[in-house]
Amino acid sequence: MTTKQAPSTLQKMGLDSPMALALHLPSRYEDETELLTIEEAIAQCRFNSAQTQGVVIRNQVLFRPRRQMLVTIEDETETLNLRFLNFYPSQQKQMAVGTHIRVRGEVREGFQGSEMVHPTVRALAPEAPLPASLTPVYPASVGVSQTVIRKAVTQALRDPSLQDSLAEFLPKKLMAELLPSNDWPNLQAAITYLHQPPADANTESLLERTHPAWRRVQFEELLAQQISLKRAHAIRRERHTPSFKKIQDESKDKNKKQSFEEGLLKVLPFKLTNAQERVWSEISHDLSNSFPMNRLLQGDVGSGKTVVAALAAARVMDHGYQAAIMAPTEILAEQHYLKMKEWFEPLGVQIAWLSGSLKAKEKRLAQEVIENGKAQLIIGTHALIQEKVSFAKLGLAVIDEQHRFGVRQRLEIQQRVGSELFYCHQLMMSATPIPRTLAMTYYADLDVSVIDELPPGRKPIATKVVKASRRDEVIGGLQSWLSKGLQAYWVCPLIEESEVLQLQTAVESFEQLTQALPDFKVGLVHGRLKAEEKAAVMAAFKANEIQLLVATTVIEVGVDVPNAALMVIEHAERFGYAQIHQLRGRVGRGSADSVCILMYAEPLSMAAKERLQTLRETSDGFVIAERDLSLRGPGELLGAKQSGDAMLRFVDLQRDAWLIELAQQAAERLLSEHADLVERHLERWLGSRAEFLKA
Ligand code: ADP
Ligand code: MG
Repeated sequence: MTTKQAPSTLQKMGLDSPMALALHLPSRYEDETELLTIEEAIAQCRFNSAQTQGVVIRNQVLFRPRRQMLVTIEDETETLNLRFLNFYPSQQKQMAVGTHIRVRGEVREGFQGSEMVHPTVRALAPEAPLPASLTPVYPASVGVSQTVIRKAVTQALRDPSLQDSLAEFLPKKLMAELLPSNDWPNLQAAITYLHQPPADANTESLLERTHPAWRRVQFEELLAQQISLKRAHAIRRERHTPSFKKIQDESKDKNKKQSFEEGLLKVLPFKLTNAQERVWSEISHDLSNSFPMNRLLQGDVGSGKTVVAALAAARVMDHGYQAAIMAPTEILAEQHYLKMKEWFEPLGVQIAWLSGSLKAKEKRLAQEVIENGKAQLIIGTHALIQEKVSFAKLGLAVIDEQHRFGVRQRLEIQQRVGSELFYCHQLMMSATPIPRTLAMTYYADLDVSVIDELPPGRKPIATKVVKASRRDEVIGGLQSWLSKGLQAYWVCPLIEESEVLQLQTAVESFEQLTQALPDFKVGLVHGRLKAEEKAAVMAAFKANEIQLLVATTVIEVGVDVPNAALMVIEHAERFGYAQIHQLRGRVGRGSADSVCILMYAEPLSMAAKERLQTLRETSDGFVIAERDLSLRGPGELLGAKQSGDAMLRFVDLQRDAWLIELAQQAAERLLSEHADLVERHLERWLGSRAEFLKA
């Protein structure tokens, strides 16, 4: 083993085999291949790192302005000061007067002449040889020095087992055909190059990870990902689920019950839009297959995804199977619960509710009816998979706002619905469009349906951006708005650092507005309220017993009150794109003209300014999502914050987008022409992470 020097820390970093060390690639390099005289270093390398050497002629500890060590070295050309603001006694000894040292750092003009602050120092004889390659700097964790990692990596690269682990086995012919002008080195050469680039290497392309050696590594990693996705796809097609074809309506025969599907369409107070009809026929087709559906239903806020999910549930229930709808937050789940009750209870459907906040007894009851099959439709939060629920006969799982679940949770969902116990049809819903690169990678085994049309009668929302200093004016406007018999929201921001502070500002606004608007009833809803209390306030708002609802971001999703067409958002500068877009989607649902007022406090950062401007100019969810993504990167959409392991290690989807297609083609050919190599490639690149890539 190569990790004898510091087994615990290196192992903690996952660097427990020659292969793991070989794939621990440098994040940057230091150039120690060039040695300058002190004079040259001072002249040429200001603001650049330079390496020089000399004899220590002075070593002082100064106390002004604070305790520090000042060392002066000299060669035949010049003298140079080295300043250390922190230092150990061992360093004092290392740099004792008369010692010859080699130093590397940035030369600056100090009060006492040219100096380096905290240079790297090594006690070396003047004639000590220079390294032939650039010195790698590795990602490290606390307590592991670069020296330890470098030694371990160097040793690993010499390990005989690595010949085998890194052996080239991608067929030459395939590579040549795919990459006509391929200047990529083979894998072993690429890895060695990245650890030990020669002195004249193009460091820019190394740092930007666009060097052919990087390309080779990135290609292989993507290839592994593409193979595992294609496999997941094939495996899904081989699985068996009951097929849920449309049940012909038998309601004309008075003795037979009408189907839930037909019943629901009759109960609905509206006609489906063309877009809803289209996506429903796509989903209906999937449901009639005998392998599990894996479909994403995408549509902007307010486009009417819920009813499509309800139709899918009705279809499955018509065949005597259960359907479950899961949402990432309690409020959103609750909203679904209420909607489903409204639509399905008149048809005699048994609906169960399960969330983490239920009392133990209620939870047990819910679990019981889910398990014995009495519950036909089950609505809930993540509790549906967490709480050891066993379904009697689950035919469909709907997952709303799936990207808001973390990677780990998504994996759990995946494992549950794809487990030995049952394979069920899966429908995910999201208002956030998936960019092409993600669709080709992480979401490759996913069919997508898009609702690209809003229900008729929606009025465009006029968005205004207003300084907080004009608060009184805004309240004046609110007064005349409410006088027309309309309702409104007043949203207070989330204060990340403190829930108490957040509550306090909401309460303050509530009190101020109650005083300023004595003719109207003002309500307050926030995250600290119990579920029943929240429900009571929301019900009162819906019944127009409350005209103005002051709320924290708990109303971000789910609320649906058509008479409330005005929304004021306080401290809009603290919200992200998606949040404001979601919030704003709550208005513009009725017949009144809708208005959203974004109040901001100064100073406004450039980013916030741009954000507010974009939000004022457009309410197109796709445009907003794109802006949002270009700012945050795909990681956040994937929930990478929850689990960095899930990400590709060497590939950046934005930078390396063009490689994805190449890897896709290579994966197809490898699977069809060289199936024997597939396992080996997956093992090399994914190992234990293979599972994560499916989440
Ligand atoms: P989202 O796609 O954001 O989840 P919802 O499913 O909550 O949107 O629908 C938003 C609102 O539009 C709801 O009040 C819903 O009842 C209504 N709605 C859905 N489809 C139609 C339609 N075809 N015609 C009119 N209103 C509709
Ligand atoms: Mg929704």
